[in-house]
Amino acid sequence: MTADPIAPRRLGGPPTEMACATCGRILNTYRTPGGGVSHLHPTGPRDYDHRPAPVPADQLAAVARDCDFCSNPYPILSIRSGPVHAVTIGENTQTTHNFGDTWAACITCARLVDAGKAAPLARRAVDGASWATDTIAAQAVHRIHTTVLATRQPGTTLITTTDWPHTPIPATTLPKARDATAKLLRAGSTTLTAIGAPVRRTIADGLDQAHLYAIDEELTDLARHAASDLPAGTTLAPADLPVPHGLLLWAQPHGPRRVSAASWTSTADEITITTYRSIGAGLPPEALQHLREDIGWLLPVTATHATQQGIAAGDGVPLLVATLLLIAQRCTETIEVEPDPRIARAYRRSRRPLPAVRLVQLRGRSAHSRPAQPSPASATPDQPTPHVRRWVSGFWRQQPYGPERSLRRWRYVFAYLRGPHSAPIAASTTVRVLGKVPPRPAGQPAARHRDPPPTS
Ligand SMILES: [Zn+2]
Ligand SMILES: [Zn+2]
Repeated sequence: MTADPIAPRRLGGPPTEMACATCGRILNTYRTPGGGVSHLHPTGPRDYDHRPAPVPADQLAAVARDCDFCSNPYPILSIRSGPVHAVTIGENTQTTHNFGDTWAACITCARLVDAGKAAPLARRAVDGASWATDTIAAQAVHRIHTTVLATRQPGTTLITTTDWPHTPIPATTLPKARDATAKLLRAGSTTLTAIGAPVRRTIADGLDQAHLYAIDEELTDLARHAASDLPAGTTLAPADLPVPHGLLLWAQPHGPRRVSAASWTSTADEITITTYRSIGAGLPPEALQHLREDIGWLLPVTATHATQQGIAAGDGVPLLVATLLLIAQRCTETIEVEPDPRIARAYRRSRRPLPAVRLVQLRGRSAHSRPAQPSPASATPDQPTPHVRRWVSGFWRQQPYGPERSLRRWRYVFAYLRGPHSAPIAASTTVRVLGKVPPRPAGQPAARHRDPPPTS
């Protein structure tokens, strides 16, 4: 695990929230009367095969945090109460468990806390930990929950560090996912530690006007290759954007935070880039529906500005820049996707124009694929014959443009496809098979044919 420069500040709780460096799990902090402190794995439904290795939680790229009420592994909101301590009195010892004042809640428990329902909360805790209802532990938990509800502070904080598995969002759902995220960003009662209030408004306003894009598997793959060697100091200029405001969904998640979407929005002096991960995998249907209603499909992970000085590193940011530069390079084409009929009806009911979702893919890729060229990897005799072809490497090159070709911008020079000539290109989507590719305008050959083959 590496230090993470963009981790949101710790959620509060004990003076320094500690996590186990081995498993990433948030540790419980115990204090003894002598002033000693110990950090232990939380008790609950799972066993540990190692001793806790406490490190400050914000030093880890991913932490594993359970719902503090029911042990569900996907907490989404943090709730504040007055400070809660539990004192365990033994024959000769007395241990204080400092629970702090901050509680991670899954969507179901968050709703129960909001409704002030201690009894169902306690029942979920007992079920989650597999205790018998009448044990001392179960009674203690009920007492703790009652204290939390009685001293509950207003507002919630969105938890963005939960390690949600990736769940693909269909392109047809994108309008609804967009609306939910804009609503979440405007919700004054929910704090986002990584994104301040003025920026949230900017992002939400941008989302309202955003064009919606879904990037297909092959272009996602290529953009990842291109992003991995994006030249240092690459900037994103307004001219590189297909539209001033957009939301873009990749076919595959990217990086340790599994970023799967990004939005950009333009203001007078800068472009704000927000990255998102998809949420909801692993929840039962009712909880999933509550998550969709209260939070949405996309969890904002980071927000950053692309200025004249360049772009900040961060999960998904170089990938967005590479994707937008590939689109600006005119080597892609878009196909409009019909939104989900239920979503279309909802838009009609609220008299809003139905947004188009644009599926973006490499231009004319089925008819104009280059023949595969031998590569060092495929020449190794022990390598199994690949069943698909993949884009391999490529490089960025400065290209003059603009008035008297006085400006420079980065273009990605495609390298070659690795794999047998007869094999399909990796992870092609069925969309290409639909054959709805619009004809290329006359006199505009595909960009990748304009580029000379790589010299190395
Ligand atoms: Zn551990
Ligand atoms: Zn819960």
